[in-house]
Amino acid sequence: MPTLSFPHDAQHFGGQPIAQLAAAHGTPFYAYDSQRIIQRIADLRAALPRSIGIHYAIKANPFPPLLRLMAGQVDGVDIASAGELELALQAGIVPGRISFAGPGKRDSELARALAAGVLVNAESEGELLRLAAIAQERGQAARVALRVNPAFELKGSGMRMGGGPRPFGIDEEMIPGLLAGWSRFGRHLEFAGLHIFAGSQNLSGESIAAAQHASYQLALRLAAFAPTPIKTLNLGGGFGIPYFPHESALDLAPISKALSEIAADAAQRLPHAALHLELGRYLVGEAGIYVTRIIDKKVSRGHTYLVTDGGLNHHLAASGNFGQVIRRNYPVAIIHAHDAQKVGAGNTATTECSSVVGPLCTPLDLLADKVDLPRAEPGDLCVIFQSGAYGASASPQGFLSHPAVLEVLL
Ligand SMILES: *Cc1c(COP(=O)(O)O)cnc(C)c1O
Repeated sequence: MPTLSFPHDAQHFGGQPIAQLAAAHGTPFYAYDSQRIIQRIADLRAALPRSIGIHYAIKANPFPPLLRLMAGQVDGVDIASAGELELALQAGIVPGRISFAGPGKRDSELARALAAGVLVNAESEGELLRLAAIAQERGQAARVALRVNPAFELKGSGMRMGGGPRPFGIDEEMIPGLLAGWSRFGRHLEFAGLHIFAGSQNLSGESIAAAQHASYQLALRLAAFAPTPIKTLNLGGGFGIPYFPHESALDLAPISKALSEIAADAAQRLPHAALHLELGRYLVGEAGIYVTRIIDKKVSRGHTYLVTDGGLNHHLAASGNFGQVIRRNYPVAIIHAHDAQKVGAGNTATTECSSVVGPLCTPLDLLADKVDLPRAEPGDLCVIFQSGAYGASASPQGFLSHPAVLEVLL
């Protein structure tokens, strides 16, 4: 049974005492551990067939130094805006390794993608027509994959992105017609392949494997209508990480088996297709912490509040306001300012049920609710783990006009 990969040593991160990092950088801050990211990708590669590429979905964490690290680790990146395109190019990722998905791409973004020569994952017929017109006008060929909204869904996903009506992708029923009539897009749209993304934050290897088989079968059916052989097949991702005590790490074994079967079959039936996965949080989520300092401690009608210098303005996901249905606590630890060495996980004599809140004037600004934590005082640190994805860039940093959060790559 895979176990939680939360660090047992809550006092150190990236080989350094967290207290020392806080002293060096000031609080609040995010720290990301490059070794952990490198290791995670190496472990994943070891579990996958060699022909399955690993792409990184930049929206999980677009911190430029982290992207530069990623440039040397993954086979490609997925972007979802012209802003992310610039970040990817600045990080040294070549356009041939970039694909651009996302609904509502503006004409200016399509033109930028065309000029850069990145693959566009088209999300609608309207987008295809706009891209065709822009390509025609500029006399430049656009490489296009169709993002498919599959009829199936990825069971047990934290966030469903396929099955039923969705703003993402083109319903699978509409794809044969689009492909069969491809010539109406003119000669500047070059059909490259398919992108099938069925869900996110899934912790069941069996469910992900089933979705991968279903995606591959769907790709085979759709390939029969394609004007040219499929060159790129994005089998999606959805690999989750454990955030809460009842969750355990994803078991890669069923995925490994499914992808080996798919890769072997594709070598025969889609011989021109490069297959890949696109992953965000699985690659970086466990490799990040968010560190705040306790500013105030107060007891209100018997309940202890630890008030920190950072909150949902920096870490919306930990507050539960980034799409959690039932609010749960991320793994959290206290680091004492004065006796960091002495206080260990086993020291339960001095625990106290506390809620950790941020400095914002809203009851939503709750980083941890009613957890047994070592007795803490102002000046101590509060660390939130599993914070490497959907942190700084996914939080409303302008809200209440506190300073932007610092990020460091270790
Ligand atoms: C958000 C997103 C991802 C990344 O999701 P994770 O849960 O971080 O792995 C990948 N692909 C697409 C199309 C997405 O929208």
